[in-house]
Amino acid sequence: MTLAMNLEFHLLAVSSLLFMVYCKENNTNTYVSKEVIVIGGGLSGLVAARELMKNTNYTVRVLEGRTDRYGGRVWTNRKSLPRSRGVEAELGAMVINSIACKDPPIMQMIADFELQTNLTGDMKIYLPDENLHLEGEQVIDVYSEVLNVLRNAVDKVKSNKKDISVKKAVDMELENFKSKIDKKILSAVLNTLPNIIFEDFSATVYKPENEFGWDTVIVDGLDTFLDRIVAGSDGELPLKIELGKVVHQIKLDPKRQKVVVRIKDGTQRYADAIIVALPVGVFKSKSVLFEPPLPKNWYQAINNLGLGYSNKIIIGFDTAFWPVDTGSFTVSSKTAKDGFLQLWTNLYRYVKKPLLVGNIFGNQASQLENMADDVIKEKALIVLGEMFGNDVVRRNNITVLIRSNWSTDPMIKGSFSYPKVGNNQLIWDTLKDPICPFLYFAGSHTESEGHIDTIHGAFKSGLRAAYQVSSGLCKMRTQQENEAKLKTQKQKETKKEKKFEKDTSKTKAKTIQKDEL
Ligand SMILES: Cc1cc2nc3c(=O)[nH]c(=O)nc-3n(C[C@H](O)[C@H](O)[C@H](O)COP(=O)(O)OP(=O)(O)OC[C@H]3O[C@@H](n4cnc5c(N)ncnc54)[C@H](O)[C@@H]3O)c2cc1C
Repeated sequence: MTLAMNLEFHLLAVSSLLFMVYCKENNTNTYVSKEVIVIGGGLSGLVAARELMKNTNYTVRVLEGRTDRYGGRVWTNRKSLPRSRGVEAELGAMVINSIACKDPPIMQMIADFELQTNLTGDMKIYLPDENLHLEGEQVIDVYSEVLNVLRNAVDKVKSNKKDISVKKAVDMELENFKSKIDKKILSAVLNTLPNIIFEDFSATVYKPENEFGWDTVIVDGLDTFLDRIVAGSDGELPLKIELGKVVHQIKLDPKRQKVVVRIKDGTQRYADAIIVALPVGVFKSKSVLFEPPLPKNWYQAINNLGLGYSNKIIIGFDTAFWPVDTGSFTVSSKTAKDGFLQLWTNLYRYVKKPLLVGNIFGNQASQLENMADDVIKEKALIVLGEMFGNDVVRRNNITVLIRSNWSTDPMIKGSFSYPKVGNNQLIWDTLKDPICPFLYFAGSHTESEGHIDTIHGAFKSGLRAAYQVSSGLCKMRTQQENEAKLKTQKQKETKKEKKFEKDTSKTKAKTIQKDEL
């Protein structure tokens, strides 16, 4: 988190506190009973709901489409992996990335909940076609140089003021890039990164990290973090979450001055304010309609934002035949290419079980959803064989295969939002701005982190949306608008009065002239 972001958060916290004190003293907003509905029980929606319950006495309710769980793209799939500790069953988000790890609010909450965390390092790089394998300091040197390439590439695009993709910018940068590290290695590692695999990822918006750092995992699973938010702490009441409530329409009822939320089961709910915390894939598919329709620039922002695919496989064996102390493996080969099984996480390191996670990004991720388990198993064995030796790998039986299907999941319809070539800050300014008087937005896609959306972004967006509601942002805006209208009306009336006075004095003068004649 940058200094500016830090400052912004502290200002937000301080002003939120001041606002609460003001409200208590003046007995206004905070003690007016209001109904707030949060649509979507992912991390952003849950954080927004908890924050509102903490800071206001509004009645807050979360409507979640799924019948069996909340959490959205945080999915610790314990059902398919019984007796799992947590981290080994993550089919959605798994790590808090190294930039977010420096961010007090999310890390502070994890610390307050006393959840056990672990860093993801260290890592090994395998380039079997070059007969190369790198480890320890070599890996840090390679990734640090990869960051140098990325920073140089995007800086040039930013100074040229004409957006191109990160991929194109990096290709151009690599042509003349001087390094003690073999360009083949740099290029191979660069091509495993999601912001290069998503070929139209904006170089102008992208913010590469300043330095290489390890990510953080919650060993007992990200769902334990969510469960704690839902349960509340220090005497807080648990969040009210209604599962199986697929919202299909959000409609303004001007007569009642309320919003009607229509649900697929034929029921509806009324609220004074709505926080919409749905994923960008759901908005893009237009499966939730707004009545009246939202302003044009909101739809344009949603349409223009990139939607990237990513899936995971969790694969288990009789024994762990890979380096068990290493956190993750990067591989580039004839089979492991274009985002297919190039990044692996070693779960043995956290839970002492012979399990690996394979990540798939880009078009390969959506194609994976049509592949039979046997095909995936065979491909995984080929890639693992290239890394650890075919003989060693084939001696082991596969005992587990679990996989995600985020692109065909009707509640998600994609994996990440990302900044596409031509996007600029206006998109996120639009997506996080409330549409007064009733609609507020949360969701990782509403926060620009300069890269694909993250749990950190979801967390921040939930805090921000709750603050927008509790601080009476729309009320203030409506007041300002009314005052502005009143001012214009007064100006018009004064103008009319002056004209009338002028006209009357003219008529008077004419009458006097006539009389004199
Ligand atoms: C495979 C994968 C790996 C990832 N890895 C990481 C990682 O390691 N680190 C990281 O920081 N981020 C990661 N992410 C991204 C991260 O998971 C998301 O950014 C974050 O969880 C989004 O939270 P959210 O609340 O904004 O949205 P979501 O989690 O998508 O929540 C939206 C909720 O809305 C519900 N919903 C949808 N439609 C309706 C409807 N019509 N009515 C009612 N409810 C509805 C959904 O069921 C869902 O619960 C990963 C994502 C994927 C897919």
